[in-house]
Amino acid sequence: MKVAVVGGGISGLAVAHRLRSRGRDAVLLESSARLGGAVGTHARDGYLVEQGPNSFLDREPATRELAAALNLEGRIRAADAAAKRRYVYTRGRLRAVPASPPAFLGSDILPLGAKLRVMGELFTGRAPEGVDESLAQFGRRHLGRMATEVLLDAVQTGIYAGDVERLSVAATFPPLVKLEREHRSLILGAIRTQKAQRKALPAGTGVTGGTAAPPKLSGALSSFEGGLQALIDALASSLGDVARVGAKVEGLERVEGGWRLMVEEHGRRSELTAEQVVLAVPAHVATRLLQPLDATLAAKVGEIEYAPIAVVHLGFDPGTTPAPDGFGFLVPRVEKRRLLGSIHVSTTFPFRVEGGRVLYSCMVGGARQPDLVKLDEAALVALAREELKALAGVTAAPSFTQVFRWPAGIPQYNVGHLERVAAIDVALQRWPGLHLTGNAYKGIGINDCIRNGALLGDALASET
Ligand SMILES: Cc1cc2nc3c(=O)[nH]c(=O)nc-3n(C[C@H](O)[C@H](O)[C@H](O)COP(=O)(O)OP(=O)(O)OC[C@H]3O[C@@H](n4cnc5c(N)ncnc54)[C@H](O)[C@@H]3O)c2cc1C
Repeated sequence: MKVAVVGGGISGLAVAHRLRSRGRDAVLLESSARLGGAVGTHARDGYLVEQGPNSFLDREPATRELAAALNLEGRIRAADAAAKRRYVYTRGRLRAVPASPPAFLGSDILPLGAKLRVMGELFTGRAPEGVDESLAQFGRRHLGRMATEVLLDAVQTGIYAGDVERLSVAATFPPLVKLEREHRSLILGAIRTQKAQRKALPAGTGVTGGTAAPPKLSGALSSFEGGLQALIDALASSLGDVARVGAKVEGLERVEGGWRLMVEEHGRRSELTAEQVVLAVPAHVATRLLQPLDATLAAKVGEIEYAPIAVVHLGFDPGTTPAPDGFGFLVPRVEKRRLLGSIHVSTTFPFRVEGGRVLYSCMVGGARQPDLVKLDEAALVALAREELKALAGVTAAPSFTQVFRWPAGIPQYNVGHLERVAAIDVALQRWPGLHLTGNAYKGIGINDCIRNGALLGDALASET
């Protein structure tokens, strides 16, 4: 066996798929009874509910390439145009997030003084070299305290469910740091970048039309017909016997010419040897497997924290509650509420509900309130209902509820993350044939996992 991939989430599946499509010998071992890890869709009572991720942005070539290889391109479903509108709960109500700088000046998302402070961003200096700032430090320097507490915190909550005071700006939003490095001011940088992009487009072409062929990547928020499960099902059938579910890797040993894996498969213990091993498991599992091998490496990996999160789906019969506007809303920490935010699924992806039903997917917990995720299902549903009523005025009773809990939900790229990952990469050089991938290291989105998985698959295929 050339390559053993441990973990059948989207990261491990992407590695295994790339290896197989390049004709390489591989096996994928997944401990649970199904493939997909966090990604999975459930069809029940006229609703398609996602247990974890809701969507991806159609801007990653590796994701498109994978969809094309799996014959799924025709099943990509872009979000409804209404999903372009987003809301933040601030100062007592939901307020629309402005879509452009002129709209920002005219909007009520921040009070006047805070908006003027944002304009003062034009005069911000660069951060001192070599400082790994938190998102909050970076935000306060550039945008002021209030924009950081309201806007930046809401944005990170929607992706990381993290703590704005602890997340590293360089690890979570690298384009912001790049803009600062190159242009000093984010506003100046954004204007110059936009101008350069317009100049680079040949006459007669534009993003929304023109004479050239339409761009392949729409940039749109997307899912698949049938939900994200469609991607997992297609990967599972493409991999066939290569992917083994119910196969938990319990140990890892260096042996002559490669690696020995101790596997517990459907109650039976067995061993498997491979020239290369890819650990595509959560960091806390990788730490356990690495501990007997290299305590220093294991400790570094173990430093990566996760925020727990619960997804509470509330479905409403047709006509019982108005269809909400936009993609959804986020709630900054400063509001001291118990909801991180909610996705208006039926507005964003109407195909995910039957016959005029309304579906909210509420997010609870995160680094902000990890203990809420431990509540039982009934308490989580009650909490989500109370918060939806208080924040968005939803008074109707849902006829459908479903809760998914993720005790180790979202990896937190806290200050020091980039240095930590660099140290992990260096330590891995001591162990030829051992590789780590997955959402804990170099990107948490589905697109990141697929891109990093494909890159690793390519690198291994070229080696073997
Ligand atoms: C609630 C939630 C909402 C999200 N929303 C979005 C979104 O809208 N868009 C987006 O792009 N991303 C989103 N994400 C992030 C994204 O879904 C994840 O980062 C990504 O799916 C992680 O994939 P992975 O393969 O790296 O890890 P995982 O999905 O965690 O897969 C790891 C796999 O390893 C297996 N495993 C563990 N131990 C062993 C072992 N000993 N032996 C064998 N197998 C083992 C596990 O069972 C699991 O299947 C969200 C995540 C969550 C939790």
